[in-house]
Amino acid sequence: MEKTKGQQLQEELTFKFPHIAKEAPYQREEAEMFCEGYKRFLDNGKTERECVREAVAMLEMQGYRPFEAGRSYKTGDKVYYVNRGKAIIATTFGKAGMEQGLRINGAHIDSPRLDLKPNPVFEKNDLAYFKTHYYGGIKKYQWGTVPLAIHGVIIKKNGEVVELNIGEKEGDPVFCVTDLLPHLAGEQNDRKLRDGLKGEELNVLISSIPFIDEAELKEPVKLLALKLLNDRYGITEADFFRAEIELVPAQKACDVGLDHSLIGAYGQDDRVCAYTALMAEIDANMPEYTTVTVLADKEEVGSEGNTGLDSDFVLHYIQDLAAMAQVDVRMVLRNSICLSSDVNAAYDPTFGQAYEDRNSCFLNKGCVLTKYTGVRGKSGSNDASAELMAKMIAMMEQEGIYWQIGELGAVDQGGGGTIAKYVAHMNVDVVDLGVPILSMHSPFELSSKLDVYNTYKAFRAFYK
Ligand code: MN
Ligand code: MN
Repeated sequence: MEKTKGQQLQEELTFKFPHIAKEAPYQREEAEMFCEGYKRFLDNGKTERECVREAVAMLEMQGYRPFEAGRSYKTGDKVYYVNRGKAIIATTFGKAGMEQGLRINGAHIDSPRLDLKPNPVFEKNDLAYFKTHYYGGIKKYQWGTVPLAIHGVIIKKNGEVVELNIGEKEGDPVFCVTDLLPHLAGEQNDRKLRDGLKGEELNVLISSIPFIDEAELKEPVKLLALKLLNDRYGITEADFFRAEIELVPAQKACDVGLDHSLIGAYGQDDRVCAYTALMAEIDANMPEYTTVTVLADKEEVGSEGNTGLDSDFVLHYIQDLAAMAQVDVRMVLRNSICLSSDVNAAYDPTFGQAYEDRNSCFLNKGCVLTKYTGVRGKSGSNDASAELMAKMIAMMEQEGIYWQIGELGAVDQGGGGTIAKYVAHMNVDVVDLGVPILSMHSPFELSSKLDVYNTYKAFRAFYK
């Protein structure tokens, strides 16, 4: 039947982002294969340090070597630079001169979690616990009754570095924060949701058997717990002062849904962009522009600290690249483009009122280009220019990449930030691109395999 004028006009003038599985069903198998590696990356990297180690192993295997400032590199050379074991930069040297700018892709590898306090071990009523201080934005009540694993590092008095990892291997014990039974939660149920579990109630149960001795010991359960840690790691209570120890969900990444279309795992914000960025970096082969893939720490607490993007470590790296090519770093920065690669909140039909559906991203519609983030009138946002949006959209259309537009929730519902504004501070054009996530910042976040795959394709196109 012939289309009416109205139908024709509708086709020409209106726009809707397609569902990938409807328009390109063949991508499901490709996405499936790609995401097997992603799930392994999630299981092997549950802390920023572990992600860096995993990244170094992947890069070394592909011929990347540690970056040496002052050396000269040629097109196609591949290098990496590690910042204090918690952030990493990888580069493939491009064909164009350095003065024509870089292609920068920045993601973060820290995720919300429970950190141990510096003096964490205590005993109460014959049970031993760790005191924690949560890291990043969490809904505290979600972290009760979830099996947790201990990951971290201790620097002993003699300088020896001890890596802790309990709760990941078959047969390992796990740990958890307890919660009150519903029968006795009358008072707790009247609390505001944000206080469902309070900060000082995030105590992690670590053991329950006392050390048996002829003498009457003070805190014998704590003593046996410390002895077991000493047997395994040679550490004492004083060693916790020289440590960074994180409690993270013990569960491994898995498929979610009868159709296996989704991935459920801890830490997908933002290891999903870290992994896809890293894979695109590794794939870069004689790129037009020199690539700078940054996996940063501390994004979840505002990119603070010398391993976060508010630090100048990326700028210093770029200064080294510019010096090597004998060009003015300011020109390099001015001509560079950066993807601030981070997740966005996928529309959740159960909580539809928190979103504005015309400007939300949806599962299975591809990577999400986020013009701005921020709170209360875009505060704390980089607001990407129309010119840069045009450039990135053209790139994705040309490469047949499924992408969509997205805002972080409805106006004044809340909001958030990414590394974008810190990159913009260097006078680099930057825009947010990433993966839609359901249940973001929970112990079990969801992503769509098709979206993960298309994000990887977008990053690859960016480094062409
Ligand atoms: Mn993030
Ligand atoms: Mn986050």
